[in-house]
Amino acid sequence: MGRLAVPPTVTAFLLDIEGTTTPITFVKDVLFPYIKDNVKEYLHKHWEEEQCQEDVSQLQKQAEIDAHLDGFVPIPSFSDGTADLQTVVQAVVDNVHWQMSLDRKTTALKQLQGHMWKSAYVSAQVKGEVYEDVVPAIRKWREAGMKVYIYSSGSIEAQKLLFGYSIEGDLLKLFDGHFDTTIGHKVESESYRNIAKCIKCSPENILFLTDIIKEAKAAEEAGAHVAVVTRPGNAALTDEEKSKYHIIASFSEIALPTTQ
Ligand SMILES: [Mg+2]
Repeated sequence: MGRLAVPPTVTAFLLDIEGTTTPITFVKDVLFPYIKDNVKEYLHKHWEEEQCQEDVSQLQKQAEIDAHLDGFVPIPSFSDGTADLQTVVQAVVDNVHWQMSLDRKTTALKQLQGHMWKSAYVSAQVKGEVYEDVVPAIRKWREAGMKVYIYSSGSIEAQKLLFGYSIEGDLLKLFDGHFDTTIGHKVESESYRNIAKCIKCSPENILFLTDIIKEAKAAEEAGAHVAVVTRPGNAALTDEEKSKYHIIASFSEIALPTTQ
């Protein structure tokens, strides 16, 4: 892999997370298994709290909507005294496992997951992973006056937990801002124009780093500069893709323009 010379028009880096700053496996092998392994303990520990009751109530409402689905797991009501606490907790656990086995993204499930991850990060049971070349590179870019932003399909809240409670400590001060899909989807060009507008620059002032070709293509169509990051475990690129895009395996390959 060669060096990537940052074009002189670039004043801002826009970084994807999964497969770019962070191993793809972090979400698949750390965050999701954490929910499956700890949901029962979490519910028992936080049951009396208003937030937990609200999460359970949302899951119950979702369960009513899901009643027609294959393998559906009902959640009995606790408040009307028809089921005991153990039974209700076990039903919530089974429902969460069932939804996750189908890779569902219901708001009710995402809400409980978000609260569980927050508690896991704050108590240091989980730490956000970043590749070792990431932090030194970003520090160097910032010293050179570059702005650095995150753009991920994970929510801004989830992004801030990952970087705020990372294996290298609180990294949030390395970033000038965060974007998620509320600005638009990552495979749509319009999203990159929106981001440029939002950070008060033109797309050609942005260098977007991602592992996904479709995202690179969308950013490029918007007029941004792009480089595709290859990391262990990322989807393999075709020869055509490799020839079409700047490819880097590490942020250390990125060379800023010299000021002279
Ligand atoms: Mg990615």
